Amino acid sequence: MTSQKFILRSELTTLKPYNAGLSLQDVAEKAAGKPIAKLASNENPYQMPNVIAEAMHQEIATAYRYPDPQGRALAKSIAEFCGCDAEQVILGNGSEDLLNILARTILRSGDEVVTLYPSFPLHEDYAIMMGAHVTRIGLVDHNKIDVDALVKAVSRPVRLTIFANPMNPTGLWLTADELDRVLAAQHPQSVLCIDEAYLEFASYQSDGQSYLPATERLKHHDKPLLVLRTFSKAYGLAGLRIGYGLTNNSTLRLGLDLVRTPFNANSVAQAGAVVALQNPAAIYPVLQQIVEQRQMLLTGLEALGLFVLPSLGNFLFFSTSEPATQIAEKLICEGVIVKPWKQAGYENWLRVSVGVEQENRQFLSALAGILTQNT
Ligand SMILES: *Cc1c(COP(=O)(O)O)cnc(C)c1O
Repeated sequence: MTSQKFILRSELTTLKPYNAGLSLQDVAEKAAGKPIAKLASNENPYQMPNVIAEAMHQEIATAYRYPDPQGRALAKSIAEFCGCDAEQVILGNGSEDLLNILARTILRSGDEVVTLYPSFPLHEDYAIMMGAHVTRIGLVDHNKIDVDALVKAVSRPVRLTIFANPMNPTGLWLTADELDRVLAAQHPQSVLCIDEAYLEFASYQSDGQSYLPATERLKHHDKPLLVLRTFSKAYGLAGLRIGYGLTNNSTLRLGLDLVRTPFNANSVAQAGAVVALQNPAAIYPVLQQIVEQRQMLLTGLEALGLFVLPSLGNFLFFSTSEPATQIAEKLICEGVIVKPWKQAGYENWLRVSVGVEQENRQFLSALAGILTQNT
């Protein structure tokens, strides 16, 4: 192949391909027969509830037709589930699709985008792709969200403030009071996007004070707010690609609708998602397992002397004394896939997703072995 850089828009030249990690086949070779524990992408390690799988199976029969471009049935279910109107809903081919749509809808060259750091890389990448500048708000003492700095940043007329709550990769979160401070401080001409990919884990058994879904404030909020959700994590539909956004702003809703491709949410995933929302309790056993196993992993990592951040997600973020990529390489030889973080200042940090108990134990014992070799 020949290479001709000038073909690309200059905004693309600083971007790197998404850090999706090795293929399962590559890992299987390196692991030489050991079982594989895939703990790198925050997927749900359990199969999706049967009712969802059955609904999708039925829908396949009519998949020779295009899906409903407005996703009316699903938008109605989402509206009922979230206590808002169907007109406030926008569907995405995963919520990553909506991140991309949002960037193309509102960002212009030279705009400022604020995010929490370390960040979900796509929150930054799509902004950069549009020529926007990203302002990062780092953690305090490596273990707390800098709420004061965030409040200050959103009060300026920046084009967009975007972050996940709970955050990925850290697992840290804003409490209800902190979220309210941010919402109150938001500049009226600035768009706020809160990515709630891990909402179900965070709100499971929550009292509403320690963690509050932003949708609880959507109805009475008078500045442009977009809340993103996904069926990829708690609902176990990562391979189906379905997510949604909820907004209080009809202009933003219209813009997102203009920019997306007309059939961006496929019919099979739409059908599965409707049933998922009709049976919210179907995922409770999974949430219970994940929360218990997250605690087990946390205790295990701390017993190895590692610094681990508190997390409300289905993952933990921890630091080690050697480069994360080296640890991750060695873990792969033990059949364990985790995510070495690659953003500046976090090269010694790894993110591990909560798997099933056996996978988590495999990870802890492999890591213990690697760390002892090093001492
Ligand atoms: C996993 C994740 C998503 C989900 O993306 P989908 O495209 O819905 O699979 C979105 N945002 C964050 C922060 C995530 O971690």
